[in-house]
Amino acid sequence: MRTTSASQDSVVQPIPLTATGGIDRDSGHRLDEAWLGAAWSHPTTRVFVVSGGQALVEETPAGGTELVTMPSFDAPLTEAHRYYLGRDAAGVRYFALQKDALPGRMDDAARPAGLREAAALLSERDSELMVHAVALENWQRLHRFCSRCGERTVIAAAGHIRRCQACGAEHYPRTDPAVIMLVLDDDDRALLGRQLHWPKGRFSTLAGFVEPGESIEQAVVREVAEEVGVTVGEVAYQASQPWPFPSSLMLGFVARATSTDVTVDGEEIEEARWFSRDDLREAMESGEVLAPSGVSIASRLVEQWYGKPLATSIW
Ligand SMILES: [Zn+2]
Repeated sequence: MRTTSASQDSVVQPIPLTATGGIDRDSGHRLDEAWLGAAWSHPTTRVFVVSGGQALVEETPAGGTELVTMPSFDAPLTEAHRYYLGRDAAGVRYFALQKDALPGRMDDAARPAGLREAAALLSERDSELMVHAVALENWQRLHRFCSRCGERTVIAAAGHIRRCQACGAEHYPRTDPAVIMLVLDDDDRALLGRQLHWPKGRFSTLAGFVEPGESIEQAVVREVAEEVGVTVGEVAYQASQPWPFPSSLMLGFVARATSTDVTVDGEEIEEARWFSRDDLREAMESGEVLAPSGVSIASRLVEQWYGKPLATSIW
């Protein structure tokens, strides 16, 4: 990630859900049912269950947290809900099974975790596998019917296509681009806002969805103007983050303000303020301001400017 402020020598955390975990998605095999069947049956193949955006995780003896996976002969197979996620560098293949509920376990070591929590705890490999599975699950759940003819669709391509048997249409997973931006002024102050439904004191970057026919840079300019009445000029892309809640891709920017008067829209944004680094440090130390969620790219954009990690939390 590019650094845009005087923070080159500081340690900024990597973005959860974004760092590569070394999984080759192996997409060339998704349509090969015979190959998929053999891969499923292979003794080294690992399977985990995803249900309602959650998977089972457990603590490791070394103090980490990992996805609970099982060999396929232990997995409750329903081929209609089998997603092939790819293979790791050692050749281990991974599948997710979408079920109505997570499997029970006789021990108490495993517990269900959603992606927001898991992404902060899991290895990059496990995080990458889980975000892929959750994104597919969300898309499958919301696309059971053909958007062309209205008939039921069926799963295909190991979870990556839904096919309509009535009209033949093939539907692919969708990703909705959203922009998330740290707005800075000429004094290098950051503009942070709070949404109505957020916990008291929580401030973060502004964000919004890209509209049809709009570039992502135009979306940044429009969203900032709509939400806080500030105009921005230069818009510089920083990094992205999959955000399958249910199907977004967060595109992170730093935007330079060309005006500083703030007029919040009062609907999405309840309050927005300019913070110098000292302002933010004092406000966080006094407890007046809570930093953005630790899992979100928002906290990384703020940290990049702030110059050091924030005391963030999962929420
Ligand atoms: Zn159809």
